[in-house]
Amino acid sequence: MTTYVWSIDDAGSGGSKMVESLRRACQFFSSRGLGSTWFTIPKPGDKPLSSEWKEALIAARDAGHDLQLHGLTHADCYEFGPPAWPATAILPTLQSDFDQRRDELMPRYTLANLRARIEEGMEIFTRELGVDPTVFRAPCGAISKPMFAALREVGIGYHTCMYISGSGYAHLPHNSGKLTQDWVERYERNHANHIKQKSTGGNTEQRIAIPRQPYRWYEGIIEAPIINEYNWRGAGQRSAEFIELARKDLDRISKESPIVVMLMHTHGLADDYEHTFRLIDAVSEHVGRQPGAAFATMGELATSGALAQAAAVEGPDILTV
Ligand SMILES: [Zn+2]
Repeated sequence: MTTYVWSIDDAGSGGSKMVESLRRACQFFSSRGLGSTWFTIPKPGDKPLSSEWKEALIAARDAGHDLQLHGLTHADCYEFGPPAWPATAILPTLQSDFDQRRDELMPRYTLANLRARIEEGMEIFTRELGVDPTVFRAPCGAISKPMFAALREVGIGYHTCMYISGSGYAHLPHNSGKLTQDWVERYERNHANHIKQKSTGGNTEQRIAIPRQPYRWYEGIIEAPIINEYNWRGAGQRSAEFIELARKDLDRISKESPIVVMLMHTHGLADDYEHTFRLIDAVSEHVGRQPGAAFATMGELATSGALAQAAAVEGPDILTV
C-alpha cells in the first residue's frame, strides 16, 4: 500500500502569474478530490509576503491544502547549505559560483544562524497564515548538519529534499535529453561508496545513494525522498514521454516505499498548465489502480505518524558541513 504526495515548491515567490499558478492548481487538485502540499517561502527575497500571496495561501489552506516551510528568503540556492545535485544539473554554475564565494557563504552554516532563520519563518507562518509548519524543505536541496540540528531544536521533525531520480531535468538543453528511468543507487546500511560522480551530457554530477523509503537521518529528523519532477519548464514539449516516465517511476517505487513524494514548482506548473493537469490526471488514474493506493499531504502524514512509521531505516552519512 503506497501513499502519494503532490508537493509544489516556491509558493510565496514571484508576482501575479505565480499566485495564479497556486490558485489554478489548487482548484484543479480540489476538483479531483486531491490534497496538495505547498512549500512556501515566508519572506521571499527578504521581503514580506504580498497581500495577493497571503490571500491566495489562506484560501488554499481553507480549501484543505497544506502549507509547509521552504527556507526563509530563498534569496539564492545556498540558504541552508552548499549546492547539491540535482540542482547542480538544473543550473550547472551553482557549484563554481559557490566555490568562488565560499568565504562569504560558509559562515552562514551555524546552528544559531539557521535556527534564527527557521524560527523567523515559523513566526511568519503563524502570524500571517495561521499555520504551524511540521515539515521543512531546504531551498535547492542545499542542506547542512547545523540545519538538521536547528530543525530538531525548533521541533520540526520532517524534511524532504533528497532525490531518487533527477531524470526530469534531462530535457534541459545542457543535459542528455534522455527521458529514461535513471535512479540513484539504493542505500543500505554500511553501503560503501554511496557517493558517486557521474558524467552525463558533459556535466559531472555527485549522486548519492539513498534509501527508497523515508529514513531517519541527522538529529533523528525523518527525510522523505522525492521520486522525481515531471513538469519542470519545457517538459510540456515532451508531455507524453514525461507521463510515461512518471508511470514507470511510480510503478517501481510503489514496490519499494509506502510513501512517495512527487515534486513540482509554481513556475513549472504555469509554464504549461495543460501538460501539468494531464500529468496529474494520468498519474492519479495510473496509481489509483494499485490496491490500497491513496493520496495525502505531507502535513497529514507527519501528524498521523505515517511518516515516522515508514522511516524504518537509517540514512547515509554524506554531509561534510
Ligand atoms: Zn525552491
